[in-house]
Amino acid sequence: MAAANEPTVFERIIAGEIDADIVRDDERVIAFRDIEPQASVHVLVVPKRRFRDVRELAAADPELLAHIVEVAGEIADAECGGEFRLVFNTGEGAGQTVFHVHAHVLGGGLSEGSLAS
Ligand code: AMP
Repeated sequence: MAAANEPTVFERIIAGEIDADIVRDDERVIAFRDIEPQASVHVLVVPKRRFRDVRELAAADPELLAHIVEVAGEIADAECGGEFRLVFNTGEGAGQTVFHVHAHVLGGGLSEGSLAS
């Protein structure tokens, strides 16, 4: 795992150092398509400010967490009729690989073995 002070892949996307298929970019969050989609719609919503996981985010800035949920819903409205799963893998044992909190927005038909199932 990368050291806590090293930029994560998501910070590098936010900084424009790594390309991503960006679907939303505002003052507080960026959203882009997952590079290994597990559903026909699989978008990550990432706050620009880094928190390790959703528990840290919720404790520090619940309003930002609410904004992530709102953005996830808007993406789902645009791409899969407003119906979606919202997944925050929290901890290595639960499948978290990038320690910069992110919401997986999954919709439009999930593939087998999906992280949300
Ligand atoms: P998690 O396993 O919950 O930490 O989710 C990390 C997600 O980031 C995985 O679903 C990866 O496929 C995705 N991912 C990693 N690198 C990139 C990238 N460069 N662009 C888009 N998605 C990525």
